[in-house]
Amino acid sequence: LFFRDAQVNLTADHLLDGLLTADFSYGSCRSRYEFTAYHQKSSHKPSPYLIAKLRKQEALQKRCGPGTAAYKKALRRLESGNGGAATDIDECRYLVNISFRGLGNRMLAVTSAFLYAVLTERVLLVHWGNKGGADGLFCEPFPSATWTLPRAAAGNKRYSPLGNLDEYNEGSEKSLGNMLQSGGAVVSGGAGRNVSWSWASSPRRRPPAYVYLHLAGGYGFHDKLFFCGAHQRLLGEVPWLLMRTDGYFVPGLFLTPPFAGELDAMFPEKDAAFHHLGRYLFHPSNAVWRAVTRYHRAKLAGAGRRVGVQIRVFQEKQPPQQVLDQLLSCVRREKLLPPENETTNDAVLVTSLSSWYGERVRAEYGGRVAGGVHQPSNEGEQRWGDGAHDARALAEMYLLSTCDALVTSGFSTFGYVAGGLAGLRPWVMERPSPWEEWTEARAKAAATTEPACRRAISVEPCFHSPSYYDCAAGKDVELDKVRPYIRRCVDVSWGIQIV
Ligand code: GDP
Repeated sequence: LFFRDAQVNLTADHLLDGLLTADFSYGSCRSRYEFTAYHQKSSHKPSPYLIAKLRKQEALQKRCGPGTAAYKKALRRLESGNGGAATDIDECRYLVNISFRGLGNRMLAVTSAFLYAVLTERVLLVHWGNKGGADGLFCEPFPSATWTLPRAAAGNKRYSPLGNLDEYNEGSEKSLGNMLQSGGAVVSGGAGRNVSWSWASSPRRRPPAYVYLHLAGGYGFHDKLFFCGAHQRLLGEVPWLLMRTDGYFVPGLFLTPPFAGELDAMFPEKDAAFHHLGRYLFHPSNAVWRAVTRYHRAKLAGAGRRVGVQIRVFQEKQPPQQVLDQLLSCVRREKLLPPENETTNDAVLVTSLSSWYGERVRAEYGGRVAGGVHQPSNEGEQRWGDGAHDARALAEMYLLSTCDALVTSGFSTFGYVAGGLAGLRPWVMERPSPWEEWTEARAKAAATTEPACRRAISVEPCFHSPSYYDCAAGKDVELDKVRPYIRRCVDVSWGIQIV
């Protein structure tokens, strides 16, 4: 393969063993083909079936995406409010991912939405949020197509039949949960066998033009019925699906009957799902990638081994010294850095919102690691709708992912993304739930918690808000007992993870 704009022969390594298409020019998005130069060679190869599905999805995005005749037709139909099953085989169906919360959350959400789109043969469009957001941070993942939902369909009531997408929430009339509760959608037949469905509220019982799927943390019983096979058959008839989600629900798709077989074929190594999909979808834009590669060359490339440390603290009241002690105890116990009186050619990369951690780790280990202790930024606090802030976060996730060993913070999606891209099982430091109140008693308990960190059981992100409901059985089940490849996460006791 040969490109005009750069004298580069693309090899299987550049294309991540066929995961990536060669249909992009090298210069348009350097991170796409340079990922391999900054990362360990992956021990996971994408299956031929996964590769075929990705190429098929790319063709779909190109045929049906914004700017095509098919898209205009679908938008007109949405504007006219006409529902009805897509009968015309040329007709395209869409999944709009309404992106929110921090960048790690957004990336996990988009990954999950993408896999759902592939499984259901829908075009994925991302609404990055009306207040800027991740727009412009990433290269387009699909050739000759955009994955960004055009404004006309996104924000403005005058243009959009969907209204303001940022306002959809659990109370929305068009949510699956509310339609099921209000009789807008009806299940009959019970218990998952011989179910038949009708969209009772629509004229002639036709499916509505769109349905909103509320899959965000804290969602209710009826919204969680998304993970039932019967409800999936119903949703298949709806031309437009809107989805608000903030996490990695891929383990939930593995537990949804109509998808299990496809997923088995796509991922013979199930625990590499995010590793493949994340490396497929996310390519930092040239500006972000320049920052990554420049920093890497200046501070990390010379070291024999790189250790990445991601410090994320969710409770303001948690004493920093306690967080630091936990990190140092983890590093000592797991022998991740040299003990006193020894030196190595390691470099340490610290990421945190606060500069204090980098300084303290430098004071402790600076003299022992020849590669130095480096912290690229200290943003002080998380900010929303700030492109430069998001760009630094993205750069740091990628810098962490170039490391040879990782220590991350429990509950943090930022850390999940770094580990998943790297294909590394990090050592995860325990964190109290972000919703738990911080008290003296909690502080004491945390200070004595052993071990200070636990090795993650796989490189997969944790699904924080699974549905425990077994639709066929009509009752809740222990999710870590139903499939050998699903376990509880080390950091979130109620979360599940693919292993
Ligand atoms: P989570 O909240 O830890 O699950 O991760 P998210 O990425 O979803 O949200 C946290 C956000 O805070 C990030 O996207 C950044 O905007 C910011 N942030 C948190 N930790 C860091 C860090 O170590 N470095 C930088 N640059 N930003 C961070």
